[in-house]
Amino acid sequence: MTAAEFISKIHYKLSPEEEKLLQRAFIFGEKAHDGQKRFSGEAYFNHPAEAALILARILPNASTIAATLLHDVPEDTKVTLAEIRKEFGEEIANLVDGVTKLGKVRLRNSKDEYYVENLRKMFVATSKDIRVILIKLADRVHNMRTIQFVRKEKQKRIAEETLEIFVPITNRLGIGEWKDELEDLAFKIVAPEEFEKTEKLLKETLHGREKALRQLQKDVSEILRTEGVKFESLRGRVKRVYSLYKKLQKYEGDIHKIYDLVALRVITKSTADCYAALGAVHKHLQLLPGRVKDFIALPKPNGYKSIHTTVFDNHNNIFEIQIRTEQMHDEAVKGIAAHWYYEEGNKADKMQKMQVQWVQDLQDMQEQLHNPEDFLNALKIDFFQKRIFVLTPKGDVRDLPLGATPVDFAFSVHSNLGFYMQGAKVNGKMVKINHLLKSGDVVEVVKSKKPVTISDDWLKHAKTSNARSKIRHYLEENQTGIFNSLKKLIRRN
Ligand code: MN
Repeated sequence: MTAAEFISKIHYKLSPEEEKLLQRAFIFGEKAHDGQKRFSGEAYFNHPAEAALILARILPNASTIAATLLHDVPEDTKVTLAEIRKEFGEEIANLVDGVTKLGKVRLRNSKDEYYVENLRKMFVATSKDIRVILIKLADRVHNMRTIQFVRKEKQKRIAEETLEIFVPITNRLGIGEWKDELEDLAFKIVAPEEFEKTEKLLKETLHGREKALRQLQKDVSEILRTEGVKFESLRGRVKRVYSLYKKLQKYEGDIHKIYDLVALRVITKSTADCYAALGAVHKHLQLLPGRVKDFIALPKPNGYKSIHTTVFDNHNNIFEIQIRTEQMHDEAVKGIAAHWYYEEGNKADKMQKMQVQWVQDLQDMQEQLHNPEDFLNALKIDFFQKRIFVLTPKGDVRDLPLGATPVDFAFSVHSNLGFYMQGAKVNGKMVKINHLLKSGDVVEVVKSKKPVTISDDWLKHAKTSNARSKIRHYLEENQTGIFNSLKKLIRRN
């Protein structure tokens, strides 16, 4: 791919400055990766270029596209981040840096749920700019598309990581297009037999249904015209293999109990037209009771909006009909990035809206991972300060704020561990309990047999609200600390 070909594949209109920027980033990246090859034998730079095109379809923002072109440069070439900063400025350099840091997160060969949660947490915490996550996701989509060239064992690790970490994030962000594609590509690697079986079953069951779908399309179009309901288009969609596989598990493997194998999407201009279309469809086609779902009135947690209903066509075939506006459809495909298209205002406003949404999503995700109330309160104080990541001796990741000490670490592992802490080791060496921890430290708490006496000094050593609230609680209960000193002072006078 040449720079000109790359530019011509961008589907939206670039301003002359944007075009110049992308051209420069393309040539810079191509030169940096010169001589490198992918496992497939093609030039390495094809990968960032393809990833940038995947990103551009979801987020038409030139700085983010440029950063995607450069995302592997610091890690894989001799060209440094400082050179990128000098050439392309702070914004693009920070995006590239964020992606590089995320690249260091690896899935250990473990099904341990707790570890995966930590990893997901680490993943989201490293990304203060939502665009870093979007670049990383586009990178993963392209890596999954070309995974057949990678070594077999490595394929499996990447695919598992995709299902466990990347898919939940695309789902949370509502990016339906990437989620569907990642799920099917990864499922095929993780469970090839199940994939093949499910795909075969789907094909057999769908045999002959295409004709029926085309007929339904005609019928519904006729119905909407008769009833005077305006609509933009009618599109068919077939259920994805992985999505079918998951549903089959719920229905004892009986594909005849699954009614949304084929769906007809009615795209309307306005929300009012959605309800008008629903009325018209129900007037003319027999519906399956109990299957009307109004995700417009009650959107899914990730923001998904649509009305679903299930009907019989005139030959007793069952179809799902999904009714939504063009904007709702676009949001279901692009998720959080759709803010870019639908928010009013300039780029900075749009960015702001996206970031606010991202913070909200992060909080929701964290909330699901932990004891909701405590954690959410702590989150507001702790989360967007700088984070460090330290390890337990077993290799679990603990996510702590910058300036955290072994006191914070101990209470983050278990509230009782804090109360039994006699001392701490960092990377095998004894340290004071006010020792400042750094990312990558392995921290071990030296436990005493009995609870230790905690002085109010400990409050000074604790950075996290979690540790502080527990120490404060302890000091109040035990009448030590400042209250005690005060009492002594009063008594002395
Ligand atoms: Mn990459």
